[in-house]
Amino acid sequence: MTVGTRIDRRRILVVEDSRTQAEALRSLLDEAGFDVEVAASGEAAIDKLRLEAVDLVISDVIMPGINGFELCTMLRQEETGGDTPFILLTSLRDPLDVVRGLECGADNYISKPFDPADLLARIERTFETSGLRGAAGAKGVIGITFLGRKFSIASGREQILDVLLSSFEDIVKANSALLEAEQARQTLFVQERRARVDADEARAKAEEANRTKSEFLAMMGHDLRTPLNAIGGYVELLTMGVRGPVTEAQVADLDRIQRNQRHLLALVTDILSFAKLESGEIPLELETAKLGTIAGSMESFIAPQAAARGITYEYLSCADIRVITDADRVQQILINLLGNALKFTPEGGRITMRCHLHGSHALVDVTDTGIGIPEGSLVTIFDPFVQVDANRGKREGIGLGLAISRKLAQALGGDIQVQSELGAGSTFTLSLPLAGEAE
Ligand code: ADP
Repeated sequence: MTVGTRIDRRRILVVEDSRTQAEALRSLLDEAGFDVEVAASGEAAIDKLRLEAVDLVISDVIMPGINGFELCTMLRQEETGGDTPFILLTSLRDPLDVVRGLECGADNYISKPFDPADLLARIERTFETSGLRGAAGAKGVIGITFLGRKFSIASGREQILDVLLSSFEDIVKANSALLEAEQARQTLFVQERRARVDADEARAKAEEANRTKSEFLAMMGHDLRTPLNAIGGYVELLTMGVRGPVTEAQVADLDRIQRNQRHLLALVTDILSFAKLESGEIPLELETAKLGTIAGSMESFIAPQAAARGITYEYLSCADIRVITDADRVQQILINLLGNALKFTPEGGRITMRCHLHGSHALVDVTDTGIGIPEGSLVTIFDPFVQVDANRGKREGIGLGLAISRKLAQALGGDIQVQSELGAGSTFTLSLPLAGEAE
């Protein structure tokens, strides 16, 4: 820096123990066209000022050693440079700081964190008023009490007015920031309330739609089941020859009608069960039951069908395991798992049902050596209406069996898990709470 520029530019001494703050101030003031010196403590500032005068001192209040108030007081007592304009940097957490600043003879203060434009404006004003001070600022010590404490202020009128105007300015700004924050809070409150109302409305609509859907499904299930049952009954009457003799070809046709009628009836029953499960309408009759009795009763359902398809069925006794459950619902689940095993296992395959214990639960494995399930579908097959690939195996059902079975198992305090290998087979595991634990 040349001597020439030093004469043109006003010199500011920044007294700040934080290096980061000091450097931030230095670059701001430098950019604004001042010559900036930095002292890292009150002591260093005094040394510097004794060597060379500056046009303005900006000092932090809180510093180890000599603090900002003390530095200002000491400076005012110096014989030369004692009237150098002095600005305090305060965090203004304590309102007394302003009065303390006046007491020590500071010209103004800037509260941290500061807005660069405000800082520069306040520096400019300090230069202006400190110039006037000599002429208009008749000095005399004034005793004041502020927040219950006494202060003796020797500053001139201009100086006092300036500090008070600055603090008024700060208060006005803080107040408008508060008002803005309050407005933002109110807007947020209104938005939040609106969002809550919208969410409530959406939930009510969804619940209503769900109820309508369940009612529709239940009604449809009921209205379809009655005529389907009637069809089944009349087909049986005709097959038995009650209405007169029937030919062999007619018996074969009646048999086809009956198979289709049973299939449709099973579908409608699935839909009805699912709708009831969804609306939580399925009552459970929980009691202690022997798993062996429930699982054993499946034999009559599966063995003939397996034999007819050339599949071996093996049941490894579950005899001594006692569970707390609803036997009818467990049968419904096992019929579905065994039915699927039959559907997806080719001739010559094997289906096995076996039980074992795992912690507080009994597990029933239904294992087949069938076509298996691709890994990507192992989770989705439990979703309603999901079928892996309509062209695989026999296309019966509508993808509700596993959704119903898992919901039932969960309602019984258990679950259904699956493990499968494509082309090798699958194991569906039903878990049920053991009687000892649940009782
Ligand atoms: P669906 O009544 O259509 O069989 P499920 O919900 O019972 O419906 O089964 C969903 C799908 O999961 C089936 O369509 C089939 O693709 C697959 N799946 C279920 N069990 C087996 C199994 N044992 N082996 C292979 N795939 C199976």
